[in-house]
Amino acid sequence: MSRRILVTGGAGFLGSHLCERLIAAGHEVICLDNFFTGRRENIAPLLDHRSFELVRHDVCDPITVEVDEIFHLACPASPIHYQRNPVRTINTCVQGTLHMLDLAREVHARILIASTSEVYGDPLTHPQEESYWGNVNPIGPRACYDEGKRCAEALAVSYARQYGVEVRIPRIFNTYGPRMLENDGRVVSNFIVQCLRSRPITLFGEGKQTRSFCYVDDLIEGFVRLMESGFSDPINLGNPVESTIRELAEAIRALVGSESELVFEPLPVDDPMRRKPDIRRAIAVLDWRPAVALEIGLERTIADFRQRIR
Ligand code: NAD
Ligand code: UDP
Repeated sequence: MSRRILVTGGAGFLGSHLCERLIAAGHEVICLDNFFTGRRENIAPLLDHRSFELVRHDVCDPITVEVDEIFHLACPASPIHYQRNPVRTINTCVQGTLHMLDLAREVHARILIASTSEVYGDPLTHPQEESYWGNVNPIGPRACYDEGKRCAEALAVSYARQYGVEVRIPRIFNTYGPRMLENDGRVVSNFIVQCLRSRPITLFGEGKQTRSFCYVDDLIEGFVRLMESGFSDPINLGNPVESTIRELAEAIRALVGSESELVFEPLPVDDPMRRKPDIRRAIAVLDWRPAVALEIGLERTIADFRQRIR
């Protein structure tokens, strides 16, 4: 059945893939974005579609719109962007989420709030299960995002308990794919751009820290299944295949066919050393698991960057 769906942050990396997927499934989509890190190009193919509407709006200001579902993604996700204006990041996470929850309550919409593996901070357990409460520095440079997202989760469960709002809380682990910004600052886009431009590959620290990279199509499938499920507790969505950052650099260099050298730069403060999702809950509740192997996903992402970069 066709539904009216609001996607906040819809002109961003994940949001634009989600809008595309929802339109293809026959829904009406209202894409809301303030273009802080989003781009019109990301949604250009949808602009003429009769079921798609673009609204320039900041979620820090309230808005009323009649919808059946809300995917609340609006928030910069890359450390360089969310640390550029930390007060604004906290405001987006807290005030923005409050406004979206108020809207969900008012119009009786189901709401998915994009949380993050950053709620686990620099984790002391490995892999990370949803029952782990995390190890977050509340006053470090990442706190604006990590604590902001933890507060967004607290708001979501409070609206669920107090007002009966139907919430969905994916904890998203590092996701990559086509349309990441060239200057996004996240590791996959940085390494691809550096290799394509024959510039040095910047490894922070010794490159021994790990991450687990999920291809965007897999994540969006998880979003859709989660929204349709009756599950309101937090749930990890990510690919459990773990790589060191050095391994990632070497894989991208080989796939691009680049001879870029590896250079080492200081490890940012509070950079988590290990990250890998335990996805047993997602498998059990959503019958979801990632299907796209890292090499295949990287090839598709590199092909997209090749078209954009000269
Ligand atoms: P992105 O930066 O590409 O997209 C975020 C979008 O939100 C952009 O279009 C931006 O312009 C918009 N936005 C930011 N602040 C806004 C505001 N105040 N009002 C309206 N729009 C605003 O990032 P992304 O990777 O697509 O991330 C989307 C969501 O997923 C974010 O909430 C992020 O925290 C979460 N997330 C992403 C990842 C990942 O690996 N991509 C991992 C964990 C969590
Ligand atoms: N990183 C790196 N070189 C870069 C960008 C990032 O070595 O040019 C490292 C970063 O220190 C972190 C990991 O790659 O350990 C992932 O960084 P990203 O910013 O993509 O996401 P995070 O998981 O830290 O939010």
